[in-house]
Amino acid sequence: MTYSLIDIGANLAHDSFDDDRDEVMRRAADAGVTRIIVTGSSDDSNTQAAALAESSNGTLFSTAGVHPHHASDYTDNSDALIRDLVSKDVVVAVGECGLDYFRNLSPREAQLDAFGRQLEIAKETGLPVFLHQRDAHDDFVEILEPALPEISRAVAHCFTGEHESLREYLALGLYIGVTGWICDERRGKHLHDIVSIVPDDKLLIETDAPYLMPRTLRPKPKTRRNEPAYLMEVLRVVAEARGQSIDHVAQMTTENAVRFFSLPPSE
Ligand SMILES: [Zn+2]
Repeated sequence: MTYSLIDIGANLAHDSFDDDRDEVMRRAADAGVTRIIVTGSSDDSNTQAAALAESSNGTLFSTAGVHPHHASDYTDNSDALIRDLVSKDVVVAVGECGLDYFRNLSPREAQLDAFGRQLEIAKETGLPVFLHQRDAHDDFVEILEPALPEISRAVAHCFTGEHESLREYLALGLYIGVTGWICDERRGKHLHDIVSIVPDDKLLIETDAPYLMPRTLRPKPKTRRNEPAYLMEVLRVVAEARGQSIDHVAQMTTENAVRFFSLPPSE
């Protein structure tokens, strides 16, 4: 059985892919990953991700946003660039954006400001929003919740939180993006235990490549660089944790991604 999986978050503009991006994309296609949403997270990566998507003949799409780590670089030009890029058909979401108090690479004030401005763009354009949150749950919900009625769809990408925050996100109507974090037998164990409470129609899968190599992959890859071809392993572990068949999870996560990003029906 071959699948048409969609990796909803891969940082393919990352320079670790500069030498072999075409091979990475071919391996993804061979592994049944037929479409990839390339994450934009800074001015530069937003431009690169959109350019990759535009030259890809329908296999790549992109997002445009500024990651909380880069929030102190969020200028009026960043804002204008996102607005310009999201007018393209291949740029299908605003983000990634949100709050990250785990590393605090940008001051919190800057993070709050950049997050709020990007939610405004999502409201004005009707595009879905691709969200990042780490160790900032309360502030995140406080900003997001009042904006949600005017936002079409929102995904908590790379969800790694606990049961309580998952329940709260689901109550807010968020989609949940699950990465290879769930394949980590130590820090991902709680996620393995709770992923079954995500309703079928809210579940999305992603690699977050080049980060978060699934630790359950056998044979173990020689490199630490994750890539979209390994999405199948995330799918396998998610299906096992939910007590569902791989076929079922493959089909519904693809349907969800098509609906979430308003992608053209698959060829
Ligand atoms: Zn992220």
